[in-house]
Amino acid sequence: MENPWYKDGLNFKCTGCGQCCTGGPGYVWLSEEDISQLIDHLKISRKEFFDRYTRQLFHRISLKEDRKTYDCVFLKGNRCEVYSARPKQCRTFPWWPEHLSSPEAWKEAAKQCEGINHPEAPVIPESEINRHL
Ligand code: SF4
Ligand code: SF4
Repeated sequence: MENPWYKDGLNFKCTGCGQCCTGGPGYVWLSEEDISQLIDHLKISRKEFFDRYTRQLFHRISLKEDRKTYDCVFLKGNRCEVYSARPKQCRTFPWWPEHLSSPEAWKEAAKQCEGINHPEAPVIPESEINRHL
């Protein structure tokens, strides 16, 4: 997209609050690459990984979440247990096309993520934002 509305960058700093890993119901969709990365990281078999951590919905694979709290299966405290191997969907948050489609959508995303427009947040330049898209 040429000259997007966020061409001057956007303020964001992750505070590590963990809010994007809970609340819902929500889905963390897994690609084959995400699955391989997590299996390597956890050093378990494919079967064990699927049994313990995933569910199938709408012909796709998602991570499980707690049925009451909606916490992601890998959220412990406010921390991700598989942070270095987390799925692409997590790595690219909050730079998702639906959040960047308009200033209003970005404001809406800020209701769930305190890092968006956080007082201490630096300006993330357009070039870096686009790398995540
Ligand atoms: S909700 Fe936002 S600030 Fe909180 S952990 Fe997620 S990305 Fe970081
Ligand atoms: S995998 Fe980690 S970063 Fe992704 S939703 Fe679960 S706890 Fe959060």
